[in-house]
Amino acid sequence: MRVLASLVLAAAAAGCASGGSSHGGARPVEVEPARVVATPVTTAKTYKARIRVYVDAGYRGQNPAHEQQLRRLLGAAFRILEPTIGVGLGEVEFRSWERQAGSDLPGMLVELEALDPADDVDWVLGFVDALGHVAADAHQLGEARALGKYAVLRGLNDAAEVTLLDEVLRGMSEHERQALYGRRKQHKELVLLLHELGHTLGAMHVTGTDRIMAPSYEASQSSFEGPTARLMAAAAQARFAAGKREPEAEWRAVLEHIRKHPWSGWNEDERDRLVTELEGRVKSVEEGTAGMPLGSRVRADDREKFRAAERLLAAGRPADAWEELEPLIDFYPDEASVQVMSCRLAVAAGKDGALIARRCERAMQLAPADAEPQLRLAQSSLAAKEPAKAYAAAEAAHGKLAGMSPGLKKELAAVWKELGAVTRAEEAGSGDKEIAGWARALRSRYGMAPGAVPPAREAAYVAAVRDLLKLVYARKFPEAEKRAALLKKEYGDAAGIDASLCDLEVRRKKYPAARALCEKAIKRYPDEAWAHYLLGLLDKHDQKTAAAMQHLERAIALDPELENAYQVAAGLYDAAGKKDEAAKLRKAYKEQFGRDLP
Ligand SMILES: [Zn+2]
Repeated sequence: MRVLASLVLAAAAAGCASGGSSHGGARPVEVEPARVVATPVTTAKTYKARIRVYVDAGYRGQNPAHEQQLRRLLGAAFRILEPTIGVGLGEVEFRSWERQAGSDLPGMLVELEALDPADDVDWVLGFVDALGHVAADAHQLGEARALGKYAVLRGLNDAAEVTLLDEVLRGMSEHERQALYGRRKQHKELVLLLHELGHTLGAMHVTGTDRIMAPSYEASQSSFEGPTARLMAAAAQARFAAGKREPEAEWRAVLEHIRKHPWSGWNEDERDRLVTELEGRVKSVEEGTAGMPLGSRVRADDREKFRAAERLLAAGRPADAWEELEPLIDFYPDEASVQVMSCRLAVAAGKDGALIARRCERAMQLAPADAEPQLRLAQSSLAAKEPAKAYAAAEAAHGKLAGMSPGLKKELAAVWKELGAVTRAEEAGSGDKEIAGWARALRSRYGMAPGAVPPAREAAYVAAVRDLLKLVYARKFPEAEKRAALLKKEYGDAAGIDASLCDLEVRRKKYPAARALCEKAIKRYPDEAWAHYLLGLLDKHDQKTAAAMQHLERAIALDPELENAYQVAAGLYDAAGKKDEAAKLRKAYKEQFGRDLP
């Protein structure tokens, strides 16, 4: 039972079977329904509600005198509501509802909202055919739009309910049973209607079973408790006073009421969701926040849901956002904004690959110039550890870089970073300090001059140099030399390969050979950090202290994560008695690594 913009609330029918027959000949009081009473609240004004009722063929068939019955039911409900919220029953209009096939209540609610914009009425209610059994499950008997104008209610299945009751009340006469059944049915219909109308006025579920806003129906339910009645009254008064001009008046009133009059009996999750939702709505009205532009086909209520989904995503709640948007997806198959959003949320909520592909491909068809669906597919492939697919999708998005928003560019840059595609990351993340720093360090560390390696092979190159260095560190020198020769065939004389070979020769203590390789690497790419570091070691070995310090400082500046370089440099500064330089270096180390230089 979700409350809120997509509030789904229903009451369940199960309760009647409990314990009725164990009292011998005594009247089983548990099955006698409670009398429903108002909870009087002092309200500023009294209004009359205009209601349009839609009745589907199933309901009409099961209730031949439906119009009369429903008038009576609405009359009873508003006799409870009038003293409670200050709204009595006004005109009621009946229409036949030739609704589309489909028997799920959320779908019916959406259909009803699409059918009738409710411009000239206060509530639009749909009554639909009964289930073939006595509902025991919440969500099965009614559904309402929280703080909205719409509710759908099911008829009750007479035959099934009577059978159930018969089993419980074997000792009662047929006449008594029929009369009791009639009272129970009236009670259940009335409580269900009041329950759903309650949701349309912001009421949340309550703890305890004997109140109208309890999540499940019970024959003992008799009233709204005071806190709920006052909340509904605040919502109704604000809604009727403001009319259509100012929907946010009602949101503000409910928000303020909940803040000023907190009550522990409300379902906490629903209350938190309601408050977050309303804060978002009010804020976006105040700031005139425009999210994604929405096509004119999207109806007002659905716009709200769309905006709610945007805000939930921004609040880090992608699963809730998806739930909010989901009813709109099939309803607006040709609305680009809805379909692009569905692709965004499917990825953010971690839906399965097939669903993501379906959503994002539809978005691409409708918004071919928009890079977002491809970016989302890239993110999804990345999460599924499919780098080749991720690369292809990111490349497709990258082709539309010029038209991308700063936020999307940043996300694309992050994908490229994850893929190790440095050049593409630099392009997408142009102006982004973090990306620029990462790219510079990676180029320096693996000796990859700009343009030296094609973008699509950058990640493979980085991995290859990393593997080469592993062989060197493991002192598998002949194998490393063989690997280096292969890499040169593939990547040419990339600086990182020579720097790795320089490292190899340092370990072999073949210092002149090492020096020649490192110098070659730096000539090719002056920012090769590892080569600077190794030259620092070689200069130190040759007791060229000043030159060594220069190379080491340069190595650190290029790749601040090069931990070894700090250690060697600090040793040199200490030995030379250069206290200031040594202190500066130790400070930089601590800032970088969060601990003291060993
Ligand atoms: Zn409910």
